[in-house]
Amino acid sequence: MKYENEINKRKSFAIIAHPDAGKTTLTEKFLLFGGAIQTAGAVKSNKIKKHTTSDFMEIERQRGISVATSVMTFEYRDILVNLLDTPGHKDFAEDTYRTLTAVDSVVLVIDCVKGVEEQTKKLMEVCRMRDTPVIIFVNKLDRDGKNPFDLLDELEELLNIRVRPLSWPINMGKDFKGVFNLYDKSFVSFAANRKATDDDIVPLQDLSSPEVDELFNPTDAKQLRNDVELIEGVYDQFDKDAYLEGKLAPVFFGSAVNNFGVKDLLDTFVEIAPTPRDRQSTTREVKVNEPRFSGFIFKIHANLDPRHRDRIAFLRVCSGKFERNKYFHHVRLDKDVRFANPYSFLAREKNIIDDAYPGDVVGLFDTGNFKIGDTLTEGENFYFTGIPSFSPELFKELVNKDPMKTKQLEKGINQLTDEGVAQLFTQHNGNRKIIGCVGDLQFEVIQYRLLQEYGASCQFNTLPFYKACWITGPKQKLEEFTRFKGANVVQDKDGHLVYLAQSEWYLNTERANNPEIEFHFTSEIH
Ligand code: GDP
Repeated sequence: MKYENEINKRKSFAIIAHPDAGKTTLTEKFLLFGGAIQTAGAVKSNKIKKHTTSDFMEIERQRGISVATSVMTFEYRDILVNLLDTPGHKDFAEDTYRTLTAVDSVVLVIDCVKGVEEQTKKLMEVCRMRDTPVIIFVNKLDRDGKNPFDLLDELEELLNIRVRPLSWPINMGKDFKGVFNLYDKSFVSFAANRKATDDDIVPLQDLSSPEVDELFNPTDAKQLRNDVELIEGVYDQFDKDAYLEGKLAPVFFGSAVNNFGVKDLLDTFVEIAPTPRDRQSTTREVKVNEPRFSGFIFKIHANLDPRHRDRIAFLRVCSGKFERNKYFHHVRLDKDVRFANPYSFLAREKNIIDDAYPGDVVGLFDTGNFKIGDTLTEGENFYFTGIPSFSPELFKELVNKDPMKTKQLEKGINQLTDEGVAQLFTQHNGNRKIIGCVGDLQFEVIQYRLLQEYGASCQFNTLPFYKACWITGPKQKLEEFTRFKGANVVQDKDGHLVYLAQSEWYLNTERANNPEIEFHFTSEIH
């Protein structure tokens, strides 16, 4: 019973957004409400302002000192909320995609001026793959943004999900008056930099009452009545089950920097967001409430200080109870491991913990035993599925510049790609190494780290590929294909065959010419 209670009080989620939409600001407000921080400005943006390696390194160094920023745990209304941080820079989007495999729901922040942006779409695609429940927060209502109805249409159209507003703005920009809560029929008036207290809430059960005209001017009152009538006519009642199935996203409006609309959002989040759920593995569905422990590694954080070259592997607990000093089974290495100093991240401090429950994230000291997707169990052999690799967007050949350091280079690139810094593809029995990344900054980081941490100097030669496709099919067909297209066929780290296409035209041609071969745009790590 106690165990069920532990599971049911946990909600693990991530805030996702296109850079600059307000993720850091919203995170900070949540932590203030949760009592995890006392002052504004305590949350450091993990955004890289300049596109330089040194800037990135500086941030990584700071983060290395305080890995606590990776997971922020706080209590709000008896719910233990685990907020998983995601990188702010688009070049590290893969890190974000992987973090999304470790959460049970997300809050998506949209800038009301810009609407749906490039990164918003990609992040939502990943959420759609897993049917992750999404709550949308339309931010920056203190600016003149797009018409809210148009925004809702844009969200539905570009994000491929049904939406249902639960709050509604009265004007925007300098005329912004506040939001009407469609759920409990109340109005909260806007004041910049407020401390949202319950006193600001005016119940407005009957929008036709003259009170509404007094509260606003008649034009705004009329507009609100018309809008609400239209909303109730167009949208079905909010359906919580559809939200939990990832089919319907409730939408809130507000202004994070002014702490406006954030409490509404957080209150609704703790009420409706899912608790940890059952998860599919390679052999069976793992029930969240089964007594035997299981979990997987979704992120590895290297300490870039050369004097302490340790890493922290982030484990998401999926079932049972994680315990300090207890032996667990490392499925890939087929060996039993235990952890003397597992970390939790309560109140943003790194604390050594004795146990952890489903939904929790535990930081494990690692000296190179883990790679992304590794599973720990109490003896059983399975991997959690649904931890995909995505096609990189840039490809470069890794060239060793110092033949005396070949071993160091091999070791370095293997460890860095285990960490998920980039993807490694090989040809000719591993002699030709191709690195795939999402952004140029990643190549710079690899070059820097190989030199600093492994003493290996390398150079990158750009290759003319645009996409990697994992290929499967009858053995003979794959062999033939490899023979004819040798220059374009490589292996990933797990030995899977990958076709590197120069352009969409080539890709389509090969698909048409080889109907028996399947081209996949993502690869499951397991
Ligand atoms: P992130 O990149 O998504 O983490 O975005 P940040 O939280 O760092 O916010 C980007 C910028 O938008 C910062 O300058 C914030 O002060 C600003 N910002 C955040 N919320 C609001 C808001 O509600 N209104 C306005 N006008 N600016 C905001």
